[in-house]
Amino acid sequence: MSNSSLISYTRISPNYNPRKNKIRKITIHHAAGRVSVESLGNTFASPARQASANYGIGYDGRIGMYVEESGRAWTSSNAENDHQAVTIEVSNDGCAPDWHVSDSVLERLIELCTDICKRNGIAALNYTGDKNGNLTMHKWFAATACPGPYLESKFPYIASEVNKRLQPSSANIQKAPAGKASFCVLSGTDIGRGTDKLIRYTKGRTGTNQYGWETAVDKNGIVLSDPVYGEGNMEVPAGGYVLSGHGEAGKWLYGHVKQGYLAGIYDGTVKIEEACCRSLDGVDTGRGEDQLIAYTRGRTGTNRYGWEVCIVDGVATSDAIYGNGNIWVGEGTYVLSGHGEAGRWLYGHVKKGTRVDVDTRYGFVRVR
Ligand SMILES: [Zn+2]
Repeated sequence: MSNSSLISYTRISPNYNPRKNKIRKITIHHAAGRVSVESLGNTFASPARQASANYGIGYDGRIGMYVEESGRAWTSSNAENDHQAVTIEVSNDGCAPDWHVSDSVLERLIELCTDICKRNGIAALNYTGDKNGNLTMHKWFAATACPGPYLESKFPYIASEVNKRLQPSSANIQKAPAGKASFCVLSGTDIGRGTDKLIRYTKGRTGTNQYGWETAVDKNGIVLSDPVYGEGNMEVPAGGYVLSGHGEAGKWLYGHVKQGYLAGIYDGTVKIEEACCRSLDGVDTGRGEDQLIAYTRGRTGTNRYGWEVCIVDGVATSDAIYGNGNIWVGEGTYVLSGHGEAGRWLYGHVKKGTRVDVDTRYGFVRVR
């Protein structure tokens, strides 16, 4: 996990925990005052304040860091949010009731959000006006005016500006070189997890304690999310399994396994292949929330709240496009259609010219 190169001031606060989740969100706060990066640093340096933020933007546009991105800052009165979010305090240049923010500070905020998305593989900032999106505000979690009426009114603008800046760069596509693989000895299946051991769990929950790394693998061998430390007792996905590692095996999981990679077990060894895969949720069927569906004939019948892309001869004919729906499927071609989380995956991984293998028999998509 990296930090922003836009910072010009660092004062690490004692007020944070290790981050448990992958960074998926950004939460924007206002400082309720005209502050510098140094004065924010002073505030967050006090253990008694029990407050911090990953970043702060001073009235002069300088950016400070108080909790590294690997840490969960104490900002939004909500652990679930802050374990997933990078939090930003923004200086005002006006007082209540509007809590205005200057144009130059707003521009710095957009630059910082763009940088956070790029480095953390967030394909787009999706402002939904509620907790379901990945751009969130403090007042949804606590009785506070934060981020104030002015900044709140700018959230749709911030999201659209960030998304514009994310769009043209193909550098956002996370593609691994094909064929690179890593191996680790599997010590057993459905048994207790000993020191430095890697165990596979195939039913129910793992029953493990929190002192290890765990990752779920689906029925196609596709890794469903990055390994998570410190939770334990993970639920096993239907038809799939969970890999659970303690100590050395946990470090191996953390270092070699990522969402979308392919896992296989051969002769007591786990093989992880770097790839970018996702399972299909269905073929020629209705598209539900957060689902990825492949269409092989006729029209997709989808509404406009999703991303769609045509695959001809294994190549995407355009970027994944949002907002059309119900498009024609040419003979011998595929249309991939994604809603919500699956749509953002499509948007992040499939650009015009991307090679895409669609396997409707086993139900998965592989991007090269
Ligand atoms: Zn706040």
